[in-house]
Amino acid sequence: MALEIYNTLTRKKELFTPLEPGYVGMYVCGPTVYSDVHLGNCRTFISFDIIYRYLKYLNYKVRYVRNITDAGHLEGDRDEGDDKFSKMARAQKIEPMEIVQRYTLGFRDVMQLFNTLPPSIEPTATGHISEQIAMTQTIIDNGYAYEKNGTIYFDVEKYNAEKPYGILTNRKLEDLLEGTRDLDGQDEKKGRLDFALWIKAKPEHLMQWPSPWGMGFPGWHIECSAMSSKYLGKQFDLHGGGMDLAATHHTNEIAQNEACFHKSPAQIWMHTNMLTVNGTRMSKSLGNGFLPHELFTGAHALLDKAYSPMTVKFFMLQTHYRSTLDFSNDALQASEKGLKRLWEAYENLQKMQYTLGEINVEIEEKTATLIHGFDESMDDDFNTAKVLANMFEIVPIINSIKDGLMPIGSISQNTFALLQTKMKSYLEDVFGLIPAQESNNNNLANVMELLIDIRKEAKLKKDFATSDKIRNQLSNIGIVVKDEKDGSVSWNIG
Ligand SMILES: [Zn+2]
Repeated sequence: MALEIYNTLTRKKELFTPLEPGYVGMYVCGPTVYSDVHLGNCRTFISFDIIYRYLKYLNYKVRYVRNITDAGHLEGDRDEGDDKFSKMARAQKIEPMEIVQRYTLGFRDVMQLFNTLPPSIEPTATGHISEQIAMTQTIIDNGYAYEKNGTIYFDVEKYNAEKPYGILTNRKLEDLLEGTRDLDGQDEKKGRLDFALWIKAKPEHLMQWPSPWGMGFPGWHIECSAMSSKYLGKQFDLHGGGMDLAATHHTNEIAQNEACFHKSPAQIWMHTNMLTVNGTRMSKSLGNGFLPHELFTGAHALLDKAYSPMTVKFFMLQTHYRSTLDFSNDALQASEKGLKRLWEAYENLQKMQYTLGEINVEIEEKTATLIHGFDESMDDDFNTAKVLANMFEIVPIINSIKDGLMPIGSISQNTFALLQTKMKSYLEDVFGLIPAQESNNNNLANVMELLIDIRKEAKLKKDFATSDKIRNQLSNIGIVVKDEKDGSVSWNIG
């Protein structure tokens, strides 16, 4: 079997054939770094990390570009209002680039906690202003954009007369127009669906650059066209993002690239689905939106306890990326238990020594089929959920061997070796799960609790030699123990 990927553009699974054999170019719309990354975005980036890892597992040379939006993203996703960075910067009386720096680092920290790989290139919108200006100029020269008072608009109706604007979400222009408000007489746009490629800046606007049309800043959509074409060429293999980006942002990207290069940017468009909480759509306004650190600390009204990054990631992988994913305490707890059970079996499996025995044909065939199912499931539009389901069928086989209920030789040597290597490749390389490290951190926390207890008892017995010894020796290895005013004891790795 070969890799098949669901293409939003054609609404079906397609056999994946890279434009250049052996190489894959993949672009994913990255975060807008004006606030903490929310969990819905994390799901998108984790999903594409797994896709990136699986393509590498298939021995493709992958160039994975994921941008950082640090300019041009206006509040209302329409062409009005202040940009999100300037608004935050004004509110906090700091520079917009301080906002960008803070949330870029925060985003990378979270991505690291989820053990995702950094993309090959992580370009920023502010680092590619001249490319965005050049592309806007070409679109004007080609006749698909017009200037109005220093702002450049894309002419959607003109474009749609030649190419279907709503092609990505399979909607006609008339239907799209129905969903938008009438232009009031003040509007600079010619058509209701026209969108800005470049926006004239008011003098007080905090982020602005010179352009052939005066001081301004780029529209949100043009950055992805400019950066994807710069690093991946005018046509590349895969373009991804959250499902909420398809109707406007990605639709506009296609129109911009067609208007500039007479080519559609990506062969295959991939979209990850939404998160829900207890069956309701996750959103900030409903107060049921989780930030990653709220899950990791359990500090949220809807959570009973904290869940580790690996549990959250494992929970996400148990659902296909194109399905909605429902968060609830019960579901997270089940995932936590499931991951523990799976990982224990995996660690036991890696320690086992094979000895020949009488092969049990039924178990042998079942095991081999389940292992081959890993690649088959991933080849079927990256079905991580199916791979994990197969693994959970393998767990009782491993446990039976470990508990001495079944001789290891019931499985052939080849199948056993394959089981060891495939479980390792999938859990560690393709899924990037590392619960072992977490348990090391938990072990440290437990040991520290014990040491702090012993020290407390020593102090109560006025055995200061022991209590000082514990504190000083911990200090020597870089762990600082601090007696707080309220009598509690804290520690950190200093
Ligand atoms: Zn984008």
